Amino acid sequence: MRLKTKLSLGIGFLFLVIVVFGIFGMVSISRLKDDADRVLKNNYETLVYSNNMLKALNSLPADTSAWQFFETNLRQQEQNITEPGEKEATFRLRQNFDRYRSNPSDFLAFTNIHRYLQRINDLNQEAILRKNRIASDTAEEATTWMAIIFTALALIAFSLVVNFPGIISNPISHLSAGISAIANKDYSKRIHLPQKDEFSDLANAFNIMAEKLDEYEHSTLARIKFEKTRIETVINQMRDAIIGFDEKRHILFMNTVAAALTGLREKEVTGKYAPDVALKNDLMRTLLQNDSRAELKIFADGKESYFIKENIEVRNEGEMIGEVIVLRNITPFHELDEAKTNFIATVSHELKTPISSIKMSAKLLDDRRVGNLNKEQQELLQSIRDDADRLLRITSELLNMSQVETGNIQLKIQPAQPSGIVDQAVQAVQFQAQQKNINIRTVVPAGLPAIQADTEKTSWVLINFLTNAVKYSPELSDVEVSASISGDKVSFTVKDHGRGIDEKYLPRLFDRYFKVPGTFEKSGTGLGLAISKEFIEAQGGAIWVESNIGEGSRFGFSLPVVKN
Ligand code: ADP
Repeated sequence: MRLKTKLSLGIGFLFLVIVVFGIFGMVSISRLKDDADRVLKNNYETLVYSNNMLKALNSLPADTSAWQFFETNLRQQEQNITEPGEKEATFRLRQNFDRYRSNPSDFLAFTNIHRYLQRINDLNQEAILRKNRIASDTAEEATTWMAIIFTALALIAFSLVVNFPGIISNPISHLSAGISAIANKDYSKRIHLPQKDEFSDLANAFNIMAEKLDEYEHSTLARIKFEKTRIETVINQMRDAIIGFDEKRHILFMNTVAAALTGLREKEVTGKYAPDVALKNDLMRTLLQNDSRAELKIFADGKESYFIKENIEVRNEGEMIGEVIVLRNITPFHELDEAKTNFIATVSHELKTPISSIKMSAKLLDDRRVGNLNKEQQELLQSIRDDADRLLRITSELLNMSQVETGNIQLKIQPAQPSGIVDQAVQAVQFQAQQKNINIRTVVPAGLPAIQADTEKTSWVLINFLTNAVKYSPELSDVEVSASISGDKVSFTVKDHGRGIDEKYLPRLFDRYFKVPGTFEKSGTGLGLAISKEFIEAQGGAIWVESNIGEGSRFGFSLPVVKN
């Protein structure tokens, strides 16, 4: 039954109870009132008339007005005959009264009047008693019926009081339990109500909603799983090795390349604390320890492969939630670089012979035995010689560089005098310096200890410093070259008063092919300082630069002294 019907029936029933009780009460009261009215009208009035007539009779015949008074009351009595036998008695009363009026000495008539008045009185008094009995019966009957109806209604109302709150509250508590379950993401919750009313409709709607949510959650889960598989596939297809960690360095995932390189199985290490895994795995240890972006040489794919490590921090709203280490496979670039180096080495080597023969030819041309040259021809010849020198320098730099890149630096380390190296270098750049009127001052204290060095390569570095100093200094300026002892090392420095180098370029100055932007000198390759660094570091030394824009630069290197 619908809740609305139940409520209507309940309230309707109460309404009916009120109506029934009201009508029944009104009917009962009205019946009692009718009985009372009837007693009053039919009997009480008759008693009044007969009383009046008795009074009048007692005054007769002396009081003449009593005749009329008797007559009036008798007439009213004749109009108010209600009880059986009353009509007969009243008729007899009239007969005897008429006889007594015509003959007041008729004693029999007088006595009869008394008798019939008494008779009328008795009839009415009996009637009053009878009617009183009927009224009390009616009241008793009404009380009984009201008690029965009240008991029945009280039982029904009691059952309503007991059952009705449950009809409303039970489904509501079922529904609120269901809603709480949904709020806690328990989408399997269903509500089954036995009744067929608005609450069961609500429960059905709830079940449909829960089913839809359940379906949605499962489909979202399926989509997330699908996306996960797709991302895993993409990561596994990559040529770079990728390992993911959580913020506490537990391994979350590793792709196939990473597994192959480390020799680990993803399933076995997932969830493990990475430093624990690193205890038994060299590569993992290197990956966790070394934060630099240095190249890693690893044997992979049946050959030596090169990787660069990159640490990517995973952040969520500024908070670090994990880290991904990517080992970028740079083997193809390495191979290309190697090919380039080999090509440069071959070309520079092959160029050296023709350039040398150009120089030789130029020298022969200058010989008077070959023939005299006029002034212009001599200038052209000088220009050929300068360009041949520059070409030779460039090819030798390229050759040096290719040696450095292939790791083929051949060092001839032996004890060498610092003064000898400085003299050799100054001599080599003297001609260039003179052309720019630059004075090279040498400050080498006497008694400097010998150093452990490859003389040729160390001179090469100092020559490179001096060439640059001359190149980037204005005419008529000073360049100072000095050697000094500091601890167990001898330092060589070249100071110029040129335009200096911007501080921001200093860290890149020793990089290969780097030239300070805005350098007007076109002839440079940007390799000199890079080669110098390699040469000095290969000998166990250190190299540095200090420079201020507008004030000049100071390049230096140090090498160990010979140990006794
Ligand atoms: P390059 O053959 O171009 O001279 P280097 O490696 O010797 O190559 O020098 C790299 C760059 O450093 C130069 O291009 C130049 O811009 C800058 N540089 C080197 N020495 C000096 C110096 N003494 N003064 C100013 N700039 C210099």
